[in-house]
Amino acid sequence: MIKNYVPAEHKTEIHFDLVFYYDDDGGYAFPCDAAGNVFPLEYECARKNLEYCIAHPEEFAVYNEVQKWTSHYTEPAHGTCICGEEVSLWDQYYGACECPKCGRWYNLFGQELVAPEYWETDPSEEEYW
Ligand SMILES: [Zn+2]
Repeated sequence: MIKNYVPAEHKTEIHFDLVFYYDDDGGYAFPCDAAGNVFPLEYECARKNLEYCIAHPEEFAVYNEVQKWTSHYTEPAHGTCICGEEVSLWDQYYGACECPKCGRWYNLFGQELVAPEYWETDPSEEEYW
């Protein structure tokens, strides 16, 4: 059994963009907080784009508005292998996964398994000749 087992968790992430959209598709979006304060922009061209947008309200159908985005994702179950390695439990091979360090196999509930090469094969898949 894996140690410190943490079950898979569904997470919701919310983020905001300050958006400037043209009439047709397209425009600019800058990551910001809920109040519309743009986060420091890493790239010079992004800063120039923002300056341009702010300076040209007449060009945009949607100008300087905060848009809220919600994204959902699942963080896989994880735990600490007997060897000490932190292992993410995901469906790597038929609902099992291998510790990248020591090669032990676990199912998604953190129970240790024998390696897939020792799994019994389905008799109907065996060939007879
Ligand atoms: Zn391990």
